[in-house]
Amino acid sequence: MNVLVLKPGREKSLKRRHPWIFSGAVEKAGGTPGETLEVRDSSGKVLAHAAYSPKSQIRARVWTFDPGEAIDAGFFRNRIEKALALRDALPAAKHTNALRLLNGESDGLPGLVVDRYADVLVAQFLAAGVERWRDTILDSLTEIAGCEAIFERSDAEVRKLEGLEPRVGFARGNRNAARCPIIEYGLNFRVDVEQGQKTGFFLDQRENRQRVRALAAGREVLDGFSYTGGFAISALAGGAKRVTAVESSAPALEVAKENLAANPLDASKVEFVQADVFARLRTLRDQNAKYDLIILDPPKFAPTAAQVKNAARAYKDINLLALKLLAPGGLLATFSCSGGVSAELFQSIVAGAAADAGAGAKILERFGAAADHPVALEFPEGEYLKGLLVLKR
Ligand code: SAH
Repeated sequence: MNVLVLKPGREKSLKRRHPWIFSGAVEKAGGTPGETLEVRDSSGKVLAHAAYSPKSQIRARVWTFDPGEAIDAGFFRNRIEKALALRDALPAAKHTNALRLLNGESDGLPGLVVDRYADVLVAQFLAAGVERWRDTILDSLTEIAGCEAIFERSDAEVRKLEGLEPRVGFARGNRNAARCPIIEYGLNFRVDVEQGQKTGFFLDQRENRQRVRALAAGREVLDGFSYTGGFAISALAGGAKRVTAVESSAPALEVAKENLAANPLDASKVEFVQADVFARLRTLRDQNAKYDLIILDPPKFAPTAAQVKNAARAYKDINLLALKLLAPGGLLATFSCSGGVSAELFQSIVAGAAADAGAGAKILERFGAAADHPVALEFPEGEYLKGLLVLKR
């Protein structure tokens, strides 16, 4: 087996079971992309088995900290079975047929994301290790998860950092997957797994959509960054008086309209607006419009710490405008999925926005990703979604 040797003193993060080995910690390593390496500290002690990523700054990702555990088909089957058993036991599994089945590092398979949309799975292979074991993983998934087809969406930007080309298409089976029907807490949605954003639907927001649904009765609702209408339709189902949904993507709005039509709800209460949210919020402010519940779920403005300054400005801008648009007693459900923006920073940005808006406001609830997106405690990088429910006095 090829070997990766750490520089003296660079084994600390591995001792805490963090799965990433950065290039700066590596004394020497050799092998082909995705190959399993034996990881040793500078004294020669074996610490782990890891997948080699020669092109990436994250030079290796740990499969196991047990030097006696072999990395073979049985290993992958075992990890996949565990991850699926965890999902089967979740309360949400009784209310939806769309769940994240594998959440990368936090499920012990670095770089692998798999979402289930009823009988179709969507897989993303985002690192050299899982890329090398792709066939083994696909075989295991087909057998254990039971599905009609697996669509591959290995088109995320991070693949470039691994020196991997994008790959999109059916990996197993073949059927029309441009509108996969799913049910989420009794609501019907169609998921475009072929062309939709990420794997097609934002499963991480599932429980937060239910929260918004529970808060929406009788309210005038504005859903900013609506995508395919997840929050808008949940709010309508919760008895909203009216819903305005703002989204810039035409294909997303097309699916949103189909989603609305797929539910026995009064569609005349919803208006879908194709617009830039930043510009639209200003227009609404100038028109002196008022809302009782505003949702802001923007795309990640700061994927990494490098973009935090501009991201902070953008978050402050939209939250300030939203707080101005809220009637007294109104609620703001505001989110950030930026890995580079911590929960503390996000809260201080929203506090700054409230101060500048001259609005007294308080936090009623905090939001995170749903439980099918677990975060391994040794891997805090896995936590990205944070949100606040803010009441304007
Ligand atoms: N809340 C949604 C997910 C939102 S994802 C759900 O629960 O399903 C973020 C969305 O913001 C994407 O659909 C993207 O197309 C849209 N978007 C990005 N920038 C935008 C902008 N400036 N104005 C309006 N929409 C934007």
